[in-house]
Amino acid sequence: MTDTPNFSNASGQDQFLTILSREEALARFEAALFPRAVGVEKRPLAEALGLALAENVVAPIDVPPFDRANVDGFAVRSADIAAASERHPVQLTLNGESIACGVTPKLTVSTGTATSISTGGPVPRGADAIVMVEHTHPTEGDAIEIWRSASPGQFVSYAGSDIARGEVVLRAGTVIGSREVGMFAACGIASVPVARKPRVAVLSTGDELVQPGEALPSAGIYDTNGAIVTAAIAENGGQAEFLGSLPDDEARLEAAMRQALAEHDMLILSGGTSKGAGDVSHRIVARLGEPGIVAHGVALKPGKPLCLAVCGGKPVVILPGFPTSAMFTFHDMVVPVLRRMAGLPPRTDTQVTARIPLRIASELGRTEFVMVSLVKGQEGLVAYPTGKGSGAITSFAQADGFIRIEALADHMPPGSEAEVTLFTPQVRVPDLVIIGSHCTGLDRVVAPLARGGSSVRVLSVGSLGGLAAARRGECDLAPIHLLDEKTGRYNEPFLEPGLELVPGWRRMQGIVYRPGDARFEALEAQDALRAALADPTCLMVNRNQGAGTRILIDSLLGSARPDGYWNQPRSHNAVSAAVAQKRADWGVTIAPVAHAAGLGFIPLAEEHYDFALVAARRDRPAVKAFLTALQSDECREALEQAGFRRA
Ligand code: AMP
Ligand code: MG
Repeated sequence: MTDTPNFSNASGQDQFLTILSREEALARFEAALFPRAVGVEKRPLAEALGLALAENVVAPIDVPPFDRANVDGFAVRSADIAAASERHPVQLTLNGESIACGVTPKLTVSTGTATSISTGGPVPRGADAIVMVEHTHPTEGDAIEIWRSASPGQFVSYAGSDIARGEVVLRAGTVIGSREVGMFAACGIASVPVARKPRVAVLSTGDELVQPGEALPSAGIYDTNGAIVTAAIAENGGQAEFLGSLPDDEARLEAAMRQALAEHDMLILSGGTSKGAGDVSHRIVARLGEPGIVAHGVALKPGKPLCLAVCGGKPVVILPGFPTSAMFTFHDMVVPVLRRMAGLPPRTDTQVTARIPLRIASELGRTEFVMVSLVKGQEGLVAYPTGKGSGAITSFAQADGFIRIEALADHMPPGSEAEVTLFTPQVRVPDLVIIGSHCTGLDRVVAPLARGGSSVRVLSVGSLGGLAAARRGECDLAPIHLLDEKTGRYNEPFLEPGLELVPGWRRMQGIVYRPGDARFEALEAQDALRAALADPTCLMVNRNQGAGTRILIDSLLGSARPDGYWNQPRSHNAVSAAVAQKRADWGVTIAPVAHAAGLGFIPLAEEHYDFALVAARRDRPAVKAFLTALQSDECREALEQAGFRRA
């Protein structure tokens, strides 16, 4: 446990806060909530799926309810046919009835007689065994010959042999699935006592939040946490009610929180949990009821500002605002409590061992969760970190699971083995793995593969990262766009033995500007550049060191360092967003991205986007399918339509 004192005057009253270890925080949270009784309600079977049984359920009848024939044939007295064989068949007289399913027998099977019976029919009085029809032969008159002997009880299911009346069918705590539903149905039970789903109110907070479906204003952010937390509650046995998002207005928020708490068993907020002046939710929580906040600040990454409280016996949680942080803290710290309240057993997560291909830095003193994508390496699974920081949401969708780096480690060395906790019960190793530089054109090529049932994983780690993965045999293809300055050639000079170049497509790079800007409109590249550099108010946006586009920009600028040079985002899209939103006046990006943003574009040079193919993997079916798709007319057209030129 780390004890880092924090002081805050944000609420106007001195607040002493301690950063707790995750174990200590969870222990305090649970101690303030449990033991507690779960609510019980009766639910029809169809609505009980996934819920926990709240009480033992006892069988009201025997199953089967009568002695039942298991085969089609004849009900007999076994003693009558003890000596029967194929050479010495025994003849029995047939009784004057035939017992089908649902028919109650009227006649007794007395010595020397047999009654015809179907599978599922009640065994008549006097009979103690069933002979299969295959072992009999009809004879003259109302008689049959029996060719085999039978032991007493042969092919009979006795009443209560499956479930006995008075026996506990299923115990309290059992999670009801289709098999459990079957047990109840067999006993004639139509509704069962289940643990009532905890009613959980979900509220997002932040002035910037907009609900999906609405138009996004400037500086607005779509409310992501509301949707994910609501879904994750349902996945873990809660009944979520999403109450929307509220601005950081203390009075309105307090009213909404009080009402939500009055009407629900639990309240989960997100955002506003830091100690900034605009972060008001934790100040409200502190006055919602006893015992109040039990942990505010947990040594977790992501998720440090998590706030856990119990108000009037009900859990109140403020998740951090960043969606990835919100998800991790929810799963790690809230799910155990939610499941206990729902009467469900703790979640059992599947773990697999995988090798970490790169060094992962980690903050000392905080338990760190890193999301990873799994691919198959030469010796077992390899786990690639997918994180783009706690503000990123894509890392979740692309990840197969996560690894945990303990608080006392400051990094995980490359090549180390790690336990990966899976998000799904099974590892889905993709059929085709593409690791390297990302391009939206790639989606056009892999689309037909997905339609053909192949799963494709694309991991964006840049051209050099892709080549390293290809060298280690972790991918099939590495998309690259690397210019060799010495030869002026793209990609080919970077190949190593074992890799082959597969031509991809060309991406036109050029100057992007807002339509109507006279410094650029209708000019050639060199003239536009001259005009931009001549105007000291003209602001550029650059690219990061190492990007192919950056090499081009530096060669254009020579020794010039215009204002904005140090603004160096990492993607083509960030450049066009900066220009579109007037944070910059020009930059260099690729044509499809400029056009998609409705911006002006002056072509400069074509960049080659090709694939380094791991030669040893050329014959794999998914690789062949990829190469075929790449060559197809459909792909060429789709690429050209998106603004790329097929090489
Ligand atoms: P906060 O904790 O309120 O300071 O928020 C931290 C970051 O998370 C900010 O960038 C917020 O815009 C973002 N954020 C907060 N709530 C949400 C939400 N519900 N959905 C998406 N992003 C959010
Ligand atoms: Mg906020």
